Amino acid sequence: MTETARQLIIFDCDGVLVDSEPISIEVLVDALSAAGMPIDSEMVHRRFLGRSLGAVISTARDEYGLDINEAFLSAMRASLYDRFRAELEPMAGISEAVRGLAQENFDWCVASSSQKERIELSLTVTGLIDCFPNIFSATMVERGKPAPDLFLFAARQMGYEPSRCIVIEDSPAGVEAAKAAGMTVFAFTGGGHAKGTHYHQALLALEPDQTFDAMADLLHLVAKTGDRDGNQP
Ligand SMILES: [Mg+2]
Repeated sequence: MTETARQLIIFDCDGVLVDSEPISIEVLVDALSAAGMPIDSEMVHRRFLGRSLGAVISTARDEYGLDINEAFLSAMRASLYDRFRAELEPMAGISEAVRGLAQENFDWCVASSSQKERIELSLTVTGLIDCFPNIFSATMVERGKPAPDLFLFAARQMGYEPSRCIVIEDSPAGVEAAKAAGMTVFAFTGGGHAKGTHYHQALLALEPDQTFDAMADLLHLVAKTGDRDGNQP
């Protein structure tokens, strides 16, 4: 592989590296229902998947008049972290996929809507932390996904032009963000939450460059993808 053809693989974390969405959707639904917001997992899928907690807080406030205070958030975070420590699993095949990327001279990093503390906890309890030395959180930029800010920031920090980045995302908000950043985007549909037809339709409507549901296929798929400047690998 020539130097000019090198690409950066930018991984979302939740629903891509770790199978966290079934757990976090349950925790969010329980906490917000207890606070009086009529919410179910279908609504979380539709409106909040891949977005930051800030987006959830604004909706609760603006549409339901709920004041989500710091005590509520830290209680919810504590129960989420307890469940992550007890139940969170890495996405099947992810460490092998990253090992393959390293062997083929790709660079990679993580760019997630979650807080850095949560990303690090997720990767630590699943034994993945050593595979991901470069982690970028939406708290490092002004606008979260679906704005392109976080992906552009991560690419800049890693020394890559957007045209040489491939984003791996499971959520519509993340696919939208990658497209807005001018990057190639692969939609990953292998997570425990990625079952419903509505979810697949929402992802496909955004026309990702590729859709796949097994991490074992990742290396082969990125290896055959040229960059957006027309250079073939
Ligand atoms: Mg995600």
